[in-house]
Amino acid sequence: MIFETRCAGCDKPGAAICTTCRFALLGPAPHDAAHGVIAAVAFTGRARNIVLGWKYRNRRSVSRHLAGLIVNRIIEERAQYDIDVVTWAPTSSKRRRERGFDQGELLARAVARQLGVPCRRLLDRDGSGSQTGRSRSERLTGPRFVARPGLDGARVLVVDDVVTTGSTLGAAAAALDDRGAVARLAAVASTPDRRRAEVLPLRRPAAHAA
Ligand SMILES: [Zn+2]
Repeated sequence: MIFETRCAGCDKPGAAICTTCRFALLGPAPHDAAHGVIAAVAFTGRARNIVLGWKYRNRRSVSRHLAGLIVNRIIEERAQYDIDVVTWAPTSSKRRRERGFDQGELLARAVARQLGVPCRRLLDRDGSGSQTGRSRSERLTGPRFVARPGLDGARVLVVDDVVTTGSTLGAAAAALDDRGAVARLAAVASTPDRRRAEVLPLRRPAAHAA
């Protein structure tokens, strides 16, 4: 079987994101910015399919495209000159093993390249990714992070794939704040209602997914 590029959003053979899906990503920014996150698109319809399909298909080109959407929003907000470094909120080591990569990291690297600033891993998950020994209520509040030292006064952009409640990015911002850094938060997509991205049904990947 020859490798065939298919659209991450609709499975059509051809481009990594087909023209129809590209247009679907050009809508206005989501209005719900209550959690203070710059989000490029609403996590619905084709945009949702693309973000979910990105796990299985055309990782590099889809990352580049989604990063471009974030960068466009940042430029609209005139925030591009207020960023010294880009980072991401690392996913749990279990999830990283399952996926084989960290979507946040791929995005952060692509956003940094497009903004012309460095990308650094500045955050670690508090508790080494293990949730055992934490109470249920602690687990429900989401992950916690520890920021690396030496960030006093640094202006840090933290990027993530989907923002739902904002608790992950909020925890990242709190950790950076503890080190004296100023955090800005951005995501590809934000859920319009508080459905959790993780429980939405996934299309199964085709066997030849690149
Ligand atoms: Zn498509």
